[in-house]
Amino acid sequence: MNQIVDLRSDTVTRPTVEMRAAMLAAPLGDDVFGDDPSVNALQDRIADMLGFESALFMASGTQSNLCGILSHCQRGDEYLVGQMAHCYRWEGGGAAVFGSVQPQPLVNQPDGSLALDDITAAIKPDDPHFARTRLLALENTWQGRLLPMEYMQQATRLARSKGLACHLDGARLFNAAVRQAENSETTPQNEAARIAGCFDSVSVCFSKGLGAPVGSALCGTRELVARARRIRKMAGGGMRQAGMLAAAANHALDHNVQRMTQDHLLARTLADGLAGIEGLQPEAPQTNILFAELTGSARERGPELVKFLLDRNILITGSRQLRFVTHLDVDATGIARTVAAIRTFFGR
Ligand SMILES: *Cc1c(COP(=O)(O)O)cnc(C)c1O
Repeated sequence: MNQIVDLRSDTVTRPTVEMRAAMLAAPLGDDVFGDDPSVNALQDRIADMLGFESALFMASGTQSNLCGILSHCQRGDEYLVGQMAHCYRWEGGGAAVFGSVQPQPLVNQPDGSLALDDITAAIKPDDPHFARTRLLALENTWQGRLLPMEYMQQATRLARSKGLACHLDGARLFNAAVRQAENSETTPQNEAARIAGCFDSVSVCFSKGLGAPVGSALCGTRELVARARRIRKMAGGGMRQAGMLAAAANHALDHNVQRMTQDHLLARTLADGLAGIEGLQPEAPQTNILFAELTGSARERGPELVKFLLDRNILITGSRQLRFVTHLDVDATGIARTVAAIRTFFGR
């Protein structure tokens, strides 16, 4: 039987033998007492890498965004956020549920940005009719797309000029940084710090393209992180010997940043392989996520195609628009098999 090619998400990766060894070897302590050396090392490292005073290890990106938003905002405040942003749409309304913080969703432009005019128009005056607008939340990469550096500078400058703080959901910050480094001939570390430098807080995931089994980090000032620690505790996120997980994240930072270029290349290889199929329109992927739209008479054939691929041990998501995510457990053979299977489905 063919191996499974799992293109549903970059969260599906399993820790390698080396990563597991690093986890087993990690020095441990009780992190709620601040005693876990592996957690402390990871937090210091990621804060330093991204140019922040402090960082806090989190169970997930959702927890990290939640603690970030609630550290910036009080009850009755609001945050400006993309209609299609993860921390508005895919996090169960957590900021509203747990923090009585109201999201003000704005339309995402095709590149993932929020129009500067929309941001300006959404910031409410100080008037008892309105929630207090406190925070702008952006996402990079957004659906695999890189937010332009200049845009992030402009948007965060605008937000600050109106007294707002700025949060980045950088679940895939390192995908953005690796791609940006290719364009600018610097290092991913340098680009990650440049992107992060626009924001007051950044959430980054270790459990996606970096390949760790669990975990994210929230970075910010010492003061913000102290508030986030209290909220994380309330959210049940005070973990004890979490160093086993932090060690995996540390291992990922050592070994899995630069190699993301391979994931990006495979997404392009997949897009090229799918080009020219009647009924399927692949986009040009910028990082590790490829979308392809079913068109014409194939528009309704999404579920049938997903099932056809599943029967061949190829896993994808989507219906009218298909989504393929590359990561460190997918190789060129898997991508070639995926292209061949889809071509077979369309009868060519
Ligand atoms: C995956 C993801 C998160 C967090 O997801 P968790 O599954 O909670 O770790 C946050 N933001 C974006 C953009 C994501 O893709």
